[in-house]
Amino acid sequence: MRRILAAESVILWLRNDLRLDDQRALAAAVATGAPVIPVYVLDDAAAGDWPLGGASRWWLHQSLAALAADLKAVGSRLVLRRGESAEVLAELCRETKAKSIYLSRAYEPWAAAQEQGVNTALSKSGIALKRYAGAVMFEPESLRTKAGDPFKVYTPFWRAAVATAGPAQPTPAPRALAAPAKWPTSDKLADWALLPTKPDWAGGFRTAWQPGAAGAKVRLETFLSTALHGYAENRNRPDLPGTSRLSPHLHFGEISPAHCWHAAKAYAAAHPDRSAGLETFLKELVWREFSYHLLVHWPTLPHAPFRQDFARFPWVTDDAKLKAWQRGQTGYPIVDAGMRELWSTGWMHNRVRMIVGSFLVKHLLLPWQSGEAWFWDTLVDADLASNSASWQWIAGSGADAAPYFRIFNPMTQGETFDPNADYVRRWVPELARLPNGLIHQPWTAPKEILTAAGIKLGATYPRPIVDHATARARALAAFQSLKVL
Ligand code: FAD
Repeated sequence: MRRILAAESVILWLRNDLRLDDQRALAAAVATGAPVIPVYVLDDAAAGDWPLGGASRWWLHQSLAALAADLKAVGSRLVLRRGESAEVLAELCRETKAKSIYLSRAYEPWAAAQEQGVNTALSKSGIALKRYAGAVMFEPESLRTKAGDPFKVYTPFWRAAVATAGPAQPTPAPRALAAPAKWPTSDKLADWALLPTKPDWAGGFRTAWQPGAAGAKVRLETFLSTALHGYAENRNRPDLPGTSRLSPHLHFGEISPAHCWHAAKAYAAAHPDRSAGLETFLKELVWREFSYHLLVHWPTLPHAPFRQDFARFPWVTDDAKLKAWQRGQTGYPIVDAGMRELWSTGWMHNRVRMIVGSFLVKHLLLPWQSGEAWFWDTLVDADLASNSASWQWIAGSGADAAPYFRIFNPMTQGETFDPNADYVRRWVPELARLPNGLIHQPWTAPKEILTAAGIKLGATYPRPIVDHATARARALAAFQSLKVL
């Protein structure tokens, strides 16, 4: 093994692993005994068709600020550089004389190409890339069917996951990081202009979220102590705080999935009478793993239907309807509530993501990729694996997908999962004065009730942009045209 000179630094290249604990790349960098230079490179072009969306940029700014503060607390710094990753890292190695770069693996198809590019560029100068497992509990290649193939179906994937020894116990953050004798220069975070200004649409984000590792831990602890027990039932209720809201923290790697996994198990062991939802929660963490597994083995997942027959699906183009959906102006209250929650907070409840997704691809017959793109831009948890796998699931074109012919009825979905209409009243306040029995389908309300509630359909709130029964029949006919029923 090569001896590291006292002055020779190593670089820690951070991407979606913006935390200090349970970070194998960081632990390995620290174990060299050399000064560690943590760097984040804003490489706008690397992601090709998937540059950071607006909501992700907002989150990234906050997350980098939080990480810089965490690094300062252990005697270190966060170096920010912008540009093509290979060029930036090569320059940084020249400046600091570093001979190795430590990083966590990222699983997006573009990230693999990025790593390869960096490796090729730097290996010429004798600089080694040292890559460690990234944001998953089970490396996508590590779980296989008995025949040795990747999984296409979730349940056997879950069984295979729990048949392993499980993820390793999380490791603590280093108490101190050795600093180089001279720090390389850093960009100013504010100069990256990641935050919206004209207009500043992020007011609701600031109220809803505390990005960064500390915020992630608060979320996890709050969830375990207040919602894990009822999670199996309440996770489908957008009107209740029944889920963890950890998804953006997990996406940016502010907390590791293994940390969530072990913390939930430890909580359940300590509170056996208050943890009935444990297995359901672990299963959701494994849905995330399954999405990464699919993306790594089928890298066309973000743009091409997994099921080939869906390439012939007769999607329509209708910009006006797409815009109405994006703006929460479809005339279907549960759909509009979800789309407005998304716009306001950068997040939407999973049940409602399924309802609005189904509405887009079935009621409006718009391609799932248009919904995927909107979510990509507006979600703070926008994640190439989970977003594309979920949209394909909704559209019926994915691995282990919901059958296309199962078409959600937005009225009964609303009545079942938002029974007191608290969710709709919060996000569609113009309907708030309608009684529960009518609020999920205001067009059926008698005129005098609408008037008493201050509603004029078509003026204060839209009429339905499509008729449910007609849209359902049209969707089924379109599906029938594939001759796959
Ligand atoms: P919890 O219910 O508390 O679950 C815990 C964690 O498990 C989540 O944080 C998440 O990491 C994971 N998880 C839960 N459900 C799923 C799921 N169905 N698929 C994959 N992982 C899951 N999730 C994203 O993280 N990014 C996305 O871009 C994304 N796009 C989606 C698009 C559509 C159309 C749909 C239907 C779902 C999408 N999801 C996405 C999955 C899911 O909606 C969110 O992960 C979940 O709502 C996050 O809320 P939570 O953290 O409170 O989840």
